[in-house]
Amino acid sequence: MRPGILLDVRNLTKHFPVRAGPFQRPSGKVQAVTGVSFHLSEGESLSLVGESGCGKTTLARTLLRGYEATAGSAWFRTGEGEVVDLLTLSRRRLKPLRRQMQMVFQDPYSSLNPRMTVQQIIGEPLRIHGEELGIATREARRERVRELLLQVGLRPEAARCYPHAFSGGERQRIGIARTLAARPRLVVADEPVSALDVSVQAQILNLLLELQQRHRIGTLLLTHNLMVVRHVSDRVAVMYLGRIMETAPAETLFTSPGHPYTAALLDAIPRPDPRVRNRSRIKLSGEVPSPRNPPSGCPFHPRCVHARDRCRTELPELEHIVPGRQVRCHLWRELDLKGAATD
Ligand code: SF4
Repeated sequence: MRPGILLDVRNLTKHFPVRAGPFQRPSGKVQAVTGVSFHLSEGESLSLVGESGCGKTTLARTLLRGYEATAGSAWFRTGEGEVVDLLTLSRRRLKPLRRQMQMVFQDPYSSLNPRMTVQQIIGEPLRIHGEELGIATREARRERVRELLLQVGLRPEAARCYPHAFSGGERQRIGIARTLAARPRLVVADEPVSALDVSVQAQILNLLLELQQRHRIGTLLLTHNLMVVRHVSDRVAVMYLGRIMETAPAETLFTSPGHPYTAALLDAIPRPDPRVRNRSRIKLSGEVPSPRNPPSGCPFHPRCVHARDRCRTELPELEHIVPGRQVRCHLWRELDLKGAATD
């Protein structure tokens, strides 16, 4: 693995067997994630974007070993400089690495234990990993919780309160402080603002960005909302039916999408300026097909306005267009999709 790379995922596949009938015989499989490859550098932010059911959450859970992968590898550089495959590491060897990989959850209402004070919630990882983190006493824990609360923009007195005393945005700040307490190298944030009021979404995203940069945390942001990622991601990977359709630096993706699905997602972003609205040309219609019975050829072809005969039979490769840019579409050279780009 190249120096500076924190996570290198290669051909990650997760298919769930489906059983049916009185004898529960295998009757197919749900192809949730198929052949996904990407890398994440230390301190970098990569967003995985796609509609619900595109496989991004399954991908994250498989990475963190909530599910066992069907195939593939995920090389992770530990804080000690060792490179390990997260997907095949024994549970015994994985356990001490858990601290270095943390999640920020979607719903700040249900992810905090209502019977614990903020001190106990944020202090829990400090208690569990105290020796590793060099925090041995109750007093040291209290001081660290105080520092963390200040870092996420809350007053130290909040430590004495219970979660119900806080707004949604404040609870998400508490959740982020708990994540930071473990001093992670990798954070997976699953729809971290979708349960929040629009007015506080930007504040939480900016906080995540600031902390990621300050502590050089590699961040995987999973979201269905492209607008969320524009200002907080270095790179974006667009997923559809368990496969990556396009990866690009965030700004490039917004100004010059290379895949019709990306263009359709951009087109779906509400825009107040009617001149920009009228320029849109690609509409996303219909539902995402079932991953149990994915379409032949290009998985996007039933919804793609540009589909040709070849698209119905032949799966396009994820092609490298320029360094850092990949597109999975037979027609990427011919299509001009800039009409859907946002200004
Ligand atoms: Fe559309 Fe064909 Fe490209 Fe798939 S390969 S996105 S169907 S044009």
